[in-house]
Amino acid sequence: MALLDRAIVRTLPAVPKPIVRRISERYIAGTRVDDACRVVEKLNAEGKMATIDVLGEEITTWEEARHIGYQYENVFRTIDEQNLDSNVSVKLTGLGLKLDHGLCREILERLVRQAAERGNFVRIDMEDSSCTDETLALYRELREAGLDNVGVVLQACLRRTLADIETLADLTPNVRLCKGIYVEPEEIAYQDFDEVRENFVRALDALLRGGSYVGIATHDEWLIEEGKRLVREHGRLPAEYEFQMLLGVRPGHGDRLVADGHRLRIYVPFGEEWYAYSLRRLQENPKIAGYIAADALGRLLPGRNGR
Ligand SMILES: Cc1cc2nc3c(=O)[nH]c(=O)nc-3n(C[C@H](O)[C@H](O)[C@H](O)COP(=O)(O)OP(=O)(O)OC[C@H]3O[C@@H](n4cnc5c(N)ncnc54)[C@H](O)[C@@H]3O)c2cc1C
Repeated sequence: MALLDRAIVRTLPAVPKPIVRRISERYIAGTRVDDACRVVEKLNAEGKMATIDVLGEEITTWEEARHIGYQYENVFRTIDEQNLDSNVSVKLTGLGLKLDHGLCREILERLVRQAAERGNFVRIDMEDSSCTDETLALYRELREAGLDNVGVVLQACLRRTLADIETLADLTPNVRLCKGIYVEPEEIAYQDFDEVRENFVRALDALLRGGSYVGIATHDEWLIEEGKRLVREHGRLPAEYEFQMLLGVRPGHGDRLVADGHRLRIYVPFGEEWYAYSLRRLQENPKIAGYIAADALGRLLPGRNGR
């Protein structure tokens, strides 16, 4: 299957842009903030919360990083104007992490302060392992500066995650826990599907025990059930945790969670850079290209969606 996934990825740049757009439109809200807000309004009407992500390509200048910051400010304004139930998710490389730690902190802190003024929240996405230390360091800096309306992401595939939970424990962090989307080397990351699942369960248990608010971000049915079991065992009320899913992925699972009284937040990406972003994300992780191809082809590839 891995070979087939890689083959799909290699052919992607040759696929006409309108077709890539049709494939991705289920996963990306559109190019403008209004597109994202229309999607969020619909999700809210279905009893789902959202987190809006401004898609950006790899940035190389301060101006580009600042521009992404301004786009988020516009997102906050629009969320308020339209009275939407949504926070935002940001990627620190888009805010200049690889250019200058100080610049990135300045833009991030400004966003988090603006969110606080509006009673909103900023989730810092976790990128590949070259960013983990700096991302967690910036998160700590903001929390130690007294900002509480900011959360971070931990990836169950990384061997370091349980240690990170211990290191962050004094902050009682608000954490989105996910498997991790980046392909990482064996020395630092579990490669086996079941090992990642087991680490997810251990991490979730540790976070709940430590009092963290957790966003349980998965479409994996087995993990969703484990998540339900753990929040029950830890005596969490529905307002004290949430499930999270990506726009367009397994919406039936999300509907069932909401019908059962769990909070659910949907990740809603939008932006002009949808094409470059889609290609890059698909190329970074051939497995995801496989999911999408299987989905788009009406599951012509039986058995691909199990793991
Ligand atoms: C709200 C949210 C935020 C996330 N934020 C981050 C982050 O900050 N950093 C990070 O590294 N990762 C992030 N991820 C991605 C995550 O790490 C996983 O790569 C992804 O969710 C797939 O893992 P899974 O738990 O759903 O299990 P899997 O076993 O991989 O997936 C279960 C099933 O869900 C479907 N599926 C899963 N993902 C997709 C997809 N992208 N497209 C189509 N179908 C899919 C497939 O049918 C698959 O069989 C996020 C995920 C979610 C839901």
